[in-house]
Amino acid sequence: MVNRRTVIAGNWKMFKTVSEAENYAVKFLAEVKGIQDLDIVLCAPFTALYPLKNKLEESNVHLGAQNMSWADQGAYTGEISAQMILDVACAYVILGHSERREMFGETDEGINKKVLKALAAGLTPILCVGENLNTREEGKAAEWVRSQVIHALTGILREDLSRIVIAYEPIWAIGTGRTASSQDAQEMCVSIRTTLNGLMGSEAEKVPILYGGSVKAENIAELLTEPDVDGALVGGASLDPLSFVKLVHNAASVFARVKGV
Ligand code: PEP
Repeated sequence: MVNRRTVIAGNWKMFKTVSEAENYAVKFLAEVKGIQDLDIVLCAPFTALYPLKNKLEESNVHLGAQNMSWADQGAYTGEISAQMILDVACAYVILGHSERREMFGETDEGINKKVLKALAAGLTPILCVGENLNTREEGKAAEWVRSQVIHALTGILREDLSRIVIAYEPIWAIGTGRTASSQDAQEMCVSIRTTLNGLMGSEAEKVPILYGGSVKAENIAELLTEPDVDGALVGGASLDPLSFVKLVHNAASVFARVKGV
């Protein structure tokens, strides 16, 4: 059995000024220091990345961006490159979040270009996939997500697969308070792994697959006891430092009890 890393990533979306981000970091770091069994990530708005770099240096908390360009540099007004986010010490970048797909016209093709660029730059993409409620009710969720995964990973090298994190985020569960059942999450994580296995064989075992969608301190434990749910991407419940601390501690205690080596 492969022991995959457990990843708990907070997605702050378009919240927090520089001073709010700095205050958060001070409170959060004090409570999570010493946790080594989880990869803890804060995905902050671009403007907060540099100040957070200074706060998170030499801590056990990693920094992530929420988007980046597929271009290296040039006349792309309003875009931010992989090198720019690396320069402020990001290790992760969320790509293909449903809010970007739905509100900012991101396509499978563009997301694929971003995944390839992030990998080439040495970043870990957190690739988001997930179906809307109609697709789920039509019984086509697995097929939809499979197609998103295949498109996003077109052209990646086998040895790069283990550097990717995938987040299954059903759109109907994001910010709605309606969580997928832990069985639904487990089923889709298995289905994603089967797709990865079809593409890259046994390398698929190394890919952490997270669940996202109204995850809170109260439901993280149940989700993480599923064998194929390797962590969570957390929006709303990551905004308050102490709530997120609680969630991280609950995740760490499941790791120790169920998934520990
Ligand atoms: C997200 O934005 O990725 C997310 C899962 O949001 P929430 O936890 O608020 O549903």
